[in-house]
Amino acid sequence: MKRIIVAGGGAAGFMSAFHAKRPDTEVTVLEAQEKPGKKLLATGSGKCNLTYASREPVLSYRGTGQDFTEAALQTFDQERTVQFFEELGMLMHEKNGGVYPYTDQAQTVQTLFLDVLRERGVKIKTRERIIDILPQKKGGFFVKTEGWQYEADVVILACGSKAAQTLGGCEDGYHLAEKLGHPVTEIVPALVPLKTKEAAFHALAGLRSPAKVTLFLDGKKAAESEGELQWTSYGISGIVVFQVSRFAALGLLEKKNVQISLNLLPQVNRQHLLAIYQKQTNKKAEHLLSGIFPQKLAALLLKQTGYKAGEILQEESFLEILSLVSDLRLTVTGTRSFEYAQVCAGGIDTAFVNAKTMESKKVPGLYFAGEILDVDGACGGYNLQWAWSSGYLAGYYAANDQKGQVEQNA
Ligand SMILES: Cc1cc2nc3c(=O)[nH]c(=O)nc-3n(C[C@H](O)[C@H](O)[C@H](O)COP(=O)(O)OP(=O)(O)OC[C@H]3O[C@@H](n4cnc5c(N)ncnc54)[C@H](O)[C@@H]3O)c2cc1C
Repeated sequence: MKRIIVAGGGAAGFMSAFHAKRPDTEVTVLEAQEKPGKKLLATGSGKCNLTYASREPVLSYRGTGQDFTEAALQTFDQERTVQFFEELGMLMHEKNGGVYPYTDQAQTVQTLFLDVLRERGVKIKTRERIIDILPQKKGGFFVKTEGWQYEADVVILACGSKAAQTLGGCEDGYHLAEKLGHPVTEIVPALVPLKTKEAAFHALAGLRSPAKVTLFLDGKKAAESEGELQWTSYGISGIVVFQVSRFAALGLLEKKNVQISLNLLPQVNRQHLLAIYQKQTNKKAEHLLSGIFPQKLAALLLKQTGYKAGEILQEESFLEILSLVSDLRLTVTGTRSFEYAQVCAGGIDTAFVNAKTMESKKVPGLYFAGEILDVDGACGGYNLQWAWSSGYLAGYYAANDQKGQVEQNA
């Protein structure tokens, strides 16, 4: 019997354990927390956006190797993910470009996975924090936890990232990999709110605005996104901000000048606004702006542009205000901490991992899966899809010695 240890009982650990379990393999998942899949339960605000809806995958992944993700995402693609969960017995539906369990409960994904893993004979041991993985001269490993030592022929490292510590996020995986000779790239929070310098805008906390967000690093456009922005007491948040946040975090790390340009009227035609302006008999500044923006924002914009309530806005002044709201500049001073990040940018350097099998190029018999790797996806099901795709490859190849084509029905 080939003994396979899966280090970490999260999304990638579940997927790799499922595919590693064969009649000729013994698979044990070691999970540090009291329950496996804690982070999975929190995904998609508890609803679990388990993949993206498009059948034409938009490869929104970043990390050291730009094409590292390709083999995994092509082998176990979005369609295959949906098929896999259907075979697990799960009904799904599509919402806002994402795929969710029909129950809209992440718990459905966790329960089905745990049921099927147990049914297959995968052992899941909780409160088993791995503290060391020692390769043996004769091949195989000793896997040391805080209270025990296991022997394994193969180890799949799926300890996740440092994001969201209360949900099991930690640095253990990076340290274990480093001890095994695997370099880890700089880790920064990603899919995370941003702190901004302009305190006047902090007063808008609680307000939401449609916005196109463009990120500039030392004056150069680095990323953009469009959606609903959330104003907060420290800066800006919402998916639209998350999408550009990893670039902001890396820019800050490199001591670059990080600026956000907000277009607060992204879908609105300027001519249309002018036509509305021209129709008004009351051209007082506060009246004109209150028809376009929420009260609090209208008042702030007025203040920012130096106009006063009661002042009559000439067409040029109205146009001046429109120019400001189509390129409102904010200075990014930081990201919120790892605790508030959905994922991390950075992780195990993929240059030393075989993209087709997820096996280490340094330590034979050691595999990786999920967010522990230096791969981060956009918001919208991309990170769980990476956990499923990489977990599949790691599990499949951990169980199979031949390093050829992946069987389609494996
Ligand atoms: C609030 C939130 C919402 C999110 N929503 C979505 C979403 O809707 N869609 C999406 O695609 N992505 C989402 N993500 C990201 C997604 O959850 C992760 O990318 C994904 O869970 C990564 O899977 P993983 O298995 O690599 O890591 P994890 O799910 O973090 O699993 C790793 C496991 O390893 C365990 N572990 C760590 N160290 C040790 C050790 N030393 N010994 C034993 N066990 C250890 C941890 O306790 C953990 O259970 C969200 C993340 C957060 C925080």
